[in-house]
Amino acid sequence: MTRFVFITGGVVSSLGKGLATAALGALLQARGFKVRLRKFDPYLNIDPGTMSPTQHGEVYVTDDGAETDLDLGHYERFTGVSSRKTDSVTAGKIYSWVLQKERRGEYLGATVQVIPHVTDEIKAAIQRDVGDADFVLCEIGGTVGDIEGQPFIEAIRQIGYELGRDRCLYVHLTLVPHIASAGELKTKPTQHSVKELLGVGIQPDILLCRCDRDIPANARRKIALFCNLRESRVIPALDARTIYEVPLQYHKEGFDDQVCRHFGVDDRRPDLSRWESIVRRIMQPDGEVNVAIVGKYTTLHDSYKSLMEALTHGGIANNVRVNLNWIDSEIFEGEAADVVPHLQGANAILVPGGFGERGAEGKIEAVRFARERKLPYFGICFGMQMAVIEAARNLAGLPSANSTEFGPCQDPVVGLMTEWTRGNEVERRATNGDLGGTMRLGAYDCDLAAGSLVRKIYDSPRISERHRHRYEVNINYKAILEKTGMRFVGMSPDGLLPEIVEWPTHPWFVGVQFHPELKSRPFEPHPLFTSFIEAAVEQSRLV
Ligand code: GLN
Repeated sequence: MTRFVFITGGVVSSLGKGLATAALGALLQARGFKVRLRKFDPYLNIDPGTMSPTQHGEVYVTDDGAETDLDLGHYERFTGVSSRKTDSVTAGKIYSWVLQKERRGEYLGATVQVIPHVTDEIKAAIQRDVGDADFVLCEIGGTVGDIEGQPFIEAIRQIGYELGRDRCLYVHLTLVPHIASAGELKTKPTQHSVKELLGVGIQPDILLCRCDRDIPANARRKIALFCNLRESRVIPALDARTIYEVPLQYHKEGFDDQVCRHFGVDDRRPDLSRWESIVRRIMQPDGEVNVAIVGKYTTLHDSYKSLMEALTHGGIANNVRVNLNWIDSEIFEGEAADVVPHLQGANAILVPGGFGERGAEGKIEAVRFARERKLPYFGICFGMQMAVIEAARNLAGLPSANSTEFGPCQDPVVGLMTEWTRGNEVERRATNGDLGGTMRLGAYDCDLAAGSLVRKIYDSPRISERHRHRYEVNINYKAILEKTGMRFVGMSPDGLLPEIVEWPTHPWFVGVQFHPELKSRPFEPHPLFTSFIEAAVEQSRLV
């Protein structure tokens, strides 16, 4: 029997609902339950794929090619359960489904309304494709009281009514602020937020109270009394030293116990040893390395969420702290620009995924620096494309080599593909088609060349990794590029799409067309990140 846990937030946004959901998923899993985690976003975009990173942060991509909210990244990292398209639902999707049905005449002449038609569609989405999950955790984006969130809140209320409270649980995440001038913790915002929920017919079963310090017993008692729940269900959610400590803290405060009690499911003790060991390794590293990340949105770290986590995982695997030095590639551009002072302290350089021409020349400079100085270099997606352009321009005698992403050029070593294969299917896109959902998205296989570094790292001849890009390294330039010594060591199974390049004469230089960071887990660090950080550690020993 599948049970549903609904996680809503109140008072302010950015309290960490995604992490709370992910951590609860991890705790239930540690008790041996099967979990699915999903996110419901009340905005009208069909998905975040077309949103600017400044608006939305990272776009997380699933194996089945959905462009989703970055919270799905937390879900996967905490539980290891691969998300699917059905785990990311926006108001935009819901409305588009409703409108398609309306056009097909499926409402049989009814007036189509938010209630019941939109709410029915939301309820169907919540219960769709749950498989054999014991628990489905549904995070509702935004905060209660938001106008666009109302249909979602109404839908989860109805599900609670229909399935019964023994199959549904409401968790509400709130803020308990400390007011310095009064020297007090304030419970009123939590009371108001719960009142808002009660006003729409939802009595929260558990409150997670975010606070920057201990919440004393009298404050908990007060919250319990005014919010109409038992004191044991007012769970302090205090700031953690690392996000991977959150499951341990929640467990200590009795969160998962209370969830299990609510459902009356057996009280197996969770095995949290893997979380304890991860936290221990993060908090007690044996050394450190400096990685320079040369990108565009360097002040918006949410845009590189999975990347940062994957680097941390690489650090966990090597027992070192990974210090990230964010460098805006534009500072390497222009006549007087000099990369040396910015990059010489780095033990390794990484150019992550990116879009658009701004900052591209600076990234190419960073690639050149890494190649010439034999510093470990990891190019991800755009970072691989820049590595190929660098080789073409500086070694293959093609000074005008570029990507057609920036406009037509004489030597399009990176170009737009309008047709490619996935398994036995041909995928197509029009050059002037929609922007949303038309990239090469999701998991694709890649064959690794014998004798290459990546073959050794993955220890497998064929891998599968997730993609999100519109342009590809142009196979027509493979021969001329290989003459320079660059090796095309990863290819799509049909041999047409270059997926990985390497410099065999370099200690560690790998460019990948996919996004390996999306599949790294703290308890299963991605092999490329483990190996990259290991190379950085080696480099740090040389200096
Ligand atoms: N802008 C490049 C492309 O679309 C790279 C995308 C990326 O780095 N994710 O191909």
